[in-house]
Amino acid sequence: MSFNSLGLSDALLKAISKKGYSTPSPIQQKAIPPILEGKDVLASAQTGTGKTAGFTLPILQILSQGQQLRQRPIRALILTPTRELAAQILANIKEYSEFLDLRSTVIFGGVNQNPQVTQLRQGVDILVATPGRLIDLQNQGLISLAKVEILVLDEADRMLDMGFVRDIERIIKVLPSKRQNLMFSATFSTDIKKLAMGILHHPVHVEATPENTTVDAIIQKIYPVAKEKKTELIIKLITEGNWKQILVFTRTKQGANKLTESMISAGIKAAAIHGNKGQGARTKALAGFKDGSLTALVATDIAARGLDIPLLPHVVNFELPNIPEDYVHRIGRTGRAGASGEAISLFSPDETVFLRDIEKLVGLKLPKENIKGFEPDPNASTEPIKQGQGRQQRNSTPKKPKIDTTNRSSNNSFGPRRPSQNNDRRSNR
Ligand code: AMP
Repeated sequence: MSFNSLGLSDALLKAISKKGYSTPSPIQQKAIPPILEGKDVLASAQTGTGKTAGFTLPILQILSQGQQLRQRPIRALILTPTRELAAQILANIKEYSEFLDLRSTVIFGGVNQNPQVTQLRQGVDILVATPGRLIDLQNQGLISLAKVEILVLDEADRMLDMGFVRDIERIIKVLPSKRQNLMFSATFSTDIKKLAMGILHHPVHVEATPENTTVDAIIQKIYPVAKEKKTELIIKLITEGNWKQILVFTRTKQGANKLTESMISAGIKAAAIHGNKGQGARTKALAGFKDGSLTALVATDIAARGLDIPLLPHVVNFELPNIPEDYVHRIGRTGRAGASGEAISLFSPDETVFLRDIEKLVGLKLPKENIKGFEPDPNASTEPIKQGQGRQQRNSTPKKPKIDTTNRSSNNSFGPRRPSQNNDRRSNR
């Protein structure tokens, strides 16, 4: 199938060819036609599948064919969980709309709102936003969503995980009831299905990879290792393997910092990216990683979600995630766009329960390979690590969550958020 056969306009085809895409990805083939027909779409797709173009291209086509109002009210609203993802989506929109008369901008928290407000005042057709800042500006009367024709919820599962559900509900209340709705999510929990049912009308379901399965092109390996030897092992893998670009996941922000320091001491160019880092530091780390001046990017799950780093050869789970779906998200960062990649997990005995949950979710027994000199003590305890350092005890009383709030507005007036269990399990990230 070619992009020509999807019914996209010449202006879009020209932009697509400038990007160098020759064939639409599976999610694009499946999502673009129903979106162009004006239908609601529920798509199962994670980052790396080409989902952004999957919704952006048809939206641009619809908007460019619609009536152009002089004041340029916001006609398409794209909600997304993180600033990085929001910025990336806007960058894609700008590229795809190069030959169209459409304006777009992005708003997110953690930075001065004034430049964003100035942009909005000049009129934009497409707004990409994180929920907190959108609500903030809405409360201040600086934004009108009364003319929105198309709503996109991107990475809806992550927005729920990050506690944005009430924000999303508030935003939806101020949108016109007659609109087209598109929802993208990598996983489909009961909560996601509930949210979808409340927002979408007779949606067309499309999926890029089957729910919660891992991509075949990714080689997955588990290296059993004594907990205290993980740092030594990862440094050995990077230096002896002469790896050039490696994304490493830790469970906590503190863990990310500590590992980054050890890597730097060992002569590896590394930076950490997590919720405690300011926007400038995050952008710099990501840029350095993309342009090759950094070898290793050490990230927590929330910070890494949605980062567009094409063709990543290696992803390493320095610690296994305590939420099994995160394993699927993490390793989805490699083997992108059909290229093969390697996802390695350093597995210590105290993570036995996490590994069991992951294998259950992906429906695979993951192959284990021992590395001489790093094997764990066969008699080591398989008890999960204590609360506060990782997984919560299943039946414990929930602690007040300490979630990554870096993408949130600090003074939204919609009252307290109800912490979800997931938020609790994501403390320290
Ligand atoms: P996404 O899943 O939207 O984050 O896209 C992942 C990467 O695939 C991005 O770098 C896109 O530029 C790229 N991409 C999107 N569509 C295509 C396509 N049809 N052919 C090749 N690359 C693509």
